[in-house]
Amino acid sequence: MSDSTKFSNQKEILGHPQGLFYLFFAELWERFSFYGMRALLTLYMVNVIFEALSTRDYAAAAVYASYGSLVYASTVIGGKISDSILGMRQSIFLGGILMSLGHFVLAIENDIAFFLALAFIIVGNGFFKPNISTFVGTLYEEGDTRKDSGFTIFYMGINIGGAISPLLCGWLGATYGWHYGFGLAGIGMLTGLLFFWSGIKKNVFGDRGLPPSQEVYEKKIMGIPQKTLIPILCFLAAPIIAFLLYSYKSLGGEGTLFEETNIVNLLFYVIGILVILYLGSIMLKATKDERKKLFMAVLITFFMTIFWGFHELHGSVITLFAARNVNLTLINASQTNALNSIFIVLLSIPISIMWTYLAKKKINPRTPYKFGMGLVLAGLSFYILSLSGGSADENGMVPFTYLLLLYFLISVGELFMSPVGLSKITDLSPKRIVAFMMGVWFLSSAYAFQIVGFISKELAIESTDSNVGGLDTLNIYLDGFSLIAKYSLVAGAVVLVFAPLMKRLMGNVH
Ligand code: GLN
Repeated sequence: MSDSTKFSNQKEILGHPQGLFYLFFAELWERFSFYGMRALLTLYMVNVIFEALSTRDYAAAAVYASYGSLVYASTVIGGKISDSILGMRQSIFLGGILMSLGHFVLAIENDIAFFLALAFIIVGNGFFKPNISTFVGTLYEEGDTRKDSGFTIFYMGINIGGAISPLLCGWLGATYGWHYGFGLAGIGMLTGLLFFWSGIKKNVFGDRGLPPSQEVYEKKIMGIPQKTLIPILCFLAAPIIAFLLYSYKSLGGEGTLFEETNIVNLLFYVIGILVILYLGSIMLKATKDERKKLFMAVLITFFMTIFWGFHELHGSVITLFAARNVNLTLINASQTNALNSIFIVLLSIPISIMWTYLAKKKINPRTPYKFGMGLVLAGLSFYILSLSGGSADENGMVPFTYLLLLYFLISVGELFMSPVGLSKITDLSPKRIVAFMMGVWFLSSAYAFQIVGFISKELAIESTDSNVGGLDTLNIYLDGFSLIAKYSLVAGAVVLVFAPLMKRLMGNVH
C-alpha cells in the first residue's frame, strides 16, 4: 500500500484530517515561542541592551523594526527553497531547530548572543512559518469545502499560543529574570517540533511534504549534497544578519547605519522595486480578467500592510506605553501582548458564524468592504486610546480599560481582514503564481515593520532616566495615537468609497 493510499484512509478528528491537529499543535507551540519572546523584546532592549543610551527607545525601535521586517521577509526565501529543494517537512524541521536555538541563545546574558539569537529566529521563521501554513492546505484535496474552516482552526492555534505565552514568559521575565522568559520560549518551540515529529512517526501526513525531487535533494554542489548545504548556509547567514542588527548597538546613537536609512531599509527598497517589476511583467502577460483580479490581490495586500503597520506597534510603542502610562491590573506590561490573541480566540468563532449568517441572508459584505471596515476599526481603536488622557491621574497614568478597548477593536479589525485576505489571495491569483503571491502576502508583514519602525522612532522618548513616564510621556504618546487614528480612518474611508469599483474588479470572487 502506497503512502498516499494510507493517507486517504486516515482517521478524521472533528471532521478534519487528523494531520491538521498535529500541525495545529506544532504551530501553536511555535507561535508560543515567537510571541513569548516578542512580549519581552522591546522592554528587554530598553531596560538592558540599550539601557545606557539616551536614545534607547529609538535604538530599540530600530532593532525591533529590522527584526520584524527580516523575520517575515525570510519566509519568501524559506518558501522558495522548500518548493524547489527541501520539501515542507525538512524545512519545518530546519526552521524549528534554528528557532529553538535562537530562543536558547537568548537565554544567555550577553549582547552579542542577543543579536545572534535574533538572527537565528529570523532564518528559522523563514523556513517554519510559510511551510507549516502551506502544509495545512495540502491536507485537503482541491475544492474540499472544509479547507476554509481548517484554516480557521489553524488560526485559532496560532492565537492560543500567542495568548498563553506572553502571560507565562512575561511573568517569568518579571519574577525570575528576562532569561527564564526567553528560555521558556525555547522549550515551547521544541515542544512544537515534538508534535510535528510525532505526526510524521504516526504517518498522519501520508506522502505530503516530502522533497519535490529526491535527485535535486541529493544533488551535490561543491561536493556537498543540497540537503546538507542549505542548513550549513543557514548557520553561516545568521552571524551576517546578527552583524547588521548589532551595528545599531556598536554605532551608539548617531552613526550612519543608525539614521533613517540603514542597510536593512535599503534592502527593502530594492526588494520592493523587484517585486513590483516582476508583478508588472506578469500582468502584461495575463489575460484581462486575470489582470483585474491580480490587481485586486496586490491592492488587498497593500491594505493589509497598512493595517499590520499599526497593529505590530503592539510589541513596541504600545508595550512601552503600557509600562509607562497605563494603570495595569492583574498583568504586567509584557503580558499585555497576550490581549490581541485572547480577543482573536474569543472572537473568531462568533465572527465566522456572523459571516455564515449574513451569507445566508445574502448580505455578507464583499472583501473590499471588510477591508475598509478593518482599517476603520484600527483607526477607531487608536482614536479611543488617544482619548484616554482625559481620564489620566496626576502621574499621567490612564485606566486599563482604554488599552483593553484598543485591543478589542483592532482584533475585530484583524478578523475582518487577515483570514479573509489569506483565502482571497488564493482565489484572486492565477494558479501558476499562487505560491509567489503567498510570499508577497507575508512580505506585506515585513513592509509593515518598516511603518512600525518609522512610527516607533517618531514616538521614541529620549531619556536616561529609568523611570520614564508621567504626563510628558503621556502627551507624546497620545498625540502619536491620534495621528495614527487619522491615517487609519482616512485609509479605511478611501477603501470604502472605492469599494464598489473594487468589487467589480474582483469578478466572481466574493
Ligand atoms: N498573528 C498572525 C500570526 O502570527 C499574523 C501575523 C502577521 O502576519 N503579521 O501568524
